[in-house]
Amino acid sequence: MQYKFNVKITTNTFDKIDGCSDLPRRFAGSMHANLLEFDMIEFFQENKKIAKVITEVAGLANYLWQKGWAERNAGNISVNLSELMTDNDFELDHFPMFQLERSYDALANLYFFVTGTGKRMRDLAISPMKNACIIKMNKKGNAYHIITMKKKNLYNFRPTSELPTHLAVHNLLVSTGSPNKAVVHTHPNELVAMTQIPKFQTAEMLNKTLWGMHPEAFVFVPRGVFLVPYILPGSHKIADATIEGFKNGHEVVIWEKHGAFAIGETVSDAFDMIDILSKSAQIWFMAMQTGNEPEGLNDAQLAELKEAFLKK
Ligand SMILES: [Zn+2]
Repeated sequence: MQYKFNVKITTNTFDKIDGCSDLPRRFAGSMHANLLEFDMIEFFQENKKIAKVITEVAGLANYLWQKGWAERNAGNISVNLSELMTDNDFELDHFPMFQLERSYDALANLYFFVTGTGKRMRDLAISPMKNACIIKMNKKGNAYHIITMKKKNLYNFRPTSELPTHLAVHNLLVSTGSPNKAVVHTHPNELVAMTQIPKFQTAEMLNKTLWGMHPEAFVFVPRGVFLVPYILPGSHKIADATIEGFKNGHEVVIWEKHGAFAIGETVSDAFDMIDILSKSAQIWFMAMQTGNEPEGLNDAQLAELKEAFLKK
């Protein structure tokens, strides 16, 4: 891959990228300085599928903001791009390298799109490449290069503070041959509110209630959520606790009094799981606001759903 310096970015140029009609304007907007060292035009022309993934992430960032789940810099997203890369010929020395505290053996030489720390979802929706980056893991899986920014242009950009959990989850997904490529963390209000209520601080009670508020919560999330008791965010400890849930077949992990982590083949798939559960939580609060405890589905109705929908 060749790198050009001081490339002029225009909307017309980006319009030439097939199938990414929305992306050009986003990228043009994100690069209003019109100067780039990393040649994004060439990169996205060669990697059109990656451009589509980033468009989808930008769309999701907008939903999260509109739903009120992404206050300030809340939430973070990562996607394993490795199978979509058409050109792996990077001169990595040009790009800054950051050492990790742990090794992620299954992630050696892989590529990830990762949102930035301190960045707002509402800004990511408009300017994805200014508020996120693509990283390439080193061959030991214990460091990464940010390949969408040259060393001298890095300023204060860093990947999300929840990178330990994102990498731990991707390490698990890759090492188990999972088709899931996307990891989404967000702060869905009603789900977080439920974990503030002591009786929902067990996975059993939380799942029974969420499933009971709407049958589709069971149909689409039949294994229920894995509940992680409150742990300091951004830590390896919370990463370790989170992957226990995904190891056990869950697709959504709830962090008590904090938020949700979900996996999916795409970011939309991961978002859907949280959205469905959030709907159940909203129904529970709406019923409670009438002064009545909602009935929920009874054990026989849940057993019937289990029989019909639980994947064997
Ligand atoms: Zn969070």
